[in-house]
Amino acid sequence: MKQGNLLYTGKAKSVYRTDIKGKLIVEFRDDITAFDGGKKDVLANKGSYNAEVSAFIFEYLGKNGVKTHFVKMLDPRRMIVRELSMIPLEVIVRNVAAGSIVRNLPFREGTELDPPVIVIDLKDDSRHDPMLNDDLIVALGLATPGEIKKMKGIALEINRLLADLLSMQGITLVDFKIEFGRQGKTIYLGDEISMDSMRLWDRKTGESLDKDVYRFDKGDVLKVYDSVMKRIAHPTTKTAKK
Ligand code: 5GP
Repeated sequence: MKQGNLLYTGKAKSVYRTDIKGKLIVEFRDDITAFDGGKKDVLANKGSYNAEVSAFIFEYLGKNGVKTHFVKMLDPRRMIVRELSMIPLEVIVRNVAAGSIVRNLPFREGTELDPPVIVIDLKDDSRHDPMLNDDLIVALGLATPGEIKKMKGIALEINRLLADLLSMQGITLVDFKIEFGRQGKTIYLGDEISMDSMRLWDRKTGESLDKDVYRFDKGDVLKVYDSVMKRIAHPTTKTAKK
């Protein structure tokens, strides 16, 4: 497969056309950003850590019946994916109160959310990704009520599968963000699931194992990403591969 023209470039990934119709290449770059791009750096190998974790998680979800855009890895930082028409929504599942819901709502950090809470934001940095509700999503023409129901169902299933996988490695899945796209009428999981898009806490120490290390200068982010990649993608317990 040949890499073609650049189709889209985001804050940490670039998407290229290929010589095969319906297939794209996603490149995970070493850029890291926070606060809608207000803080940014380039960290050697960061892209490959996220690519490896994303690929591992996509494969695990695929084996467990979740339709994802992932096809295969091309090299440590590039993956072949199915081309989707992306829906500009950030679907966030929260198991523990942290981050923006603690800043914006009267939740105390660390409070368990049972059942998990789904929040859907508009993917629009210029508006700071405002929180939507189902009526607004339909009124904006972004998804039908049936598609919203479907995305929420898939998000909860992913939450169950991911929380199980991470729990076996002593990691609490606090929250995560996913994005969906359509191919025809079918909805697929797109984008990535990595340390940039999940909030992870070490179950024993409570330490952050995700982009919060970078956002809030909590330590050596590359070291943390490397160790989390190993814990997730090269688990020591056999059961994690389901
Ligand atoms: P919060 O709303 O607390 O900032 O984020 C909730 C979860 O979604 C966190 O795991 C966070 O990393 C992820 N998240 C929210 N917005 C974005 C975004 O624009 N990009 C990425 N990669 N993750 C996001």
